[in-house]
Amino acid sequence: MDEAQRAFIPLSERKRHPNHLSVAYPATLEEYAKAVTPESHLSLFPPFAGQHFAISNLARETEALVLLPSALWMSSCEPKHNILHGYADSDGRRYQLNPVDVRRCLAIKLEYYLTYVQKSFTFPSRYCCLRSGEEQCANKALISLGAHFAAIRGARDLPIRWDSFCCWKNDVCAGCEEVAVSRVSKNQKSLWNNLPAQFDLPQWETMVADINSVPPGHSRRTPAQAMQ
Ligand SMILES: [Zn+2]
Repeated sequence: MDEAQRAFIPLSERKRHPNHLSVAYPATLEEYAKAVTPESHLSLFPPFAGQHFAISNLARETEALVLLPSALWMSSCEPKHNILHGYADSDGRRYQLNPVDVRRCLAIKLEYYLTYVQKSFTFPSRYCCLRSGEEQCANKALISLGAHFAAIRGARDLPIRWDSFCCWKNDVCAGCEEVAVSRVSKNQKSLWNNLPAQFDLPQWETMVADINSVPPGHSRRTPAQAMQ
């Protein structure tokens, strides 16, 4: 039994745990913020390398589309090398996205990162005050931003982490911080809401309604069944 099968075992008990995987791969930003905490994942199943790829693939096989935006987004946060080549476990099994999802994940990685850079510089230059004297909030923010991007490494889970704001929020006045918090939050929600379209999926509402409309006894194949 490999790690993917272990992860999906609870799905075979779907009547008792109907929302098992939707807790780890949810449809709302609020639930996603909870799901990515280590405590949350450990309570469901031990995380394993390539997990997001494995779950993305099995969600496609079982037409559990509502899991895909968050599973593919988490996949896109993996290092580029792993998105391209997948992960191999100790038994030589490889967890790898299909070629189309590889392209989608690389595309959103680029597009969302460009949005991150653009918005990061827009917030202070457009919304911070430019008062003379000690409270030159925009200038302080822009200096911190330069240092942030000069040292940036790796991917960002942008819907819940906006580090380019965290690096200067304590340096500006309360008014500027409040405005920036609101703008960052608005942009994070927008990125989350656009995930399905980025992966060529129906809108969130449509997928949620679809998964809730499957009548008892007519459920689609579960990922656990797909593994058999
Ligand atoms: Zn200010």
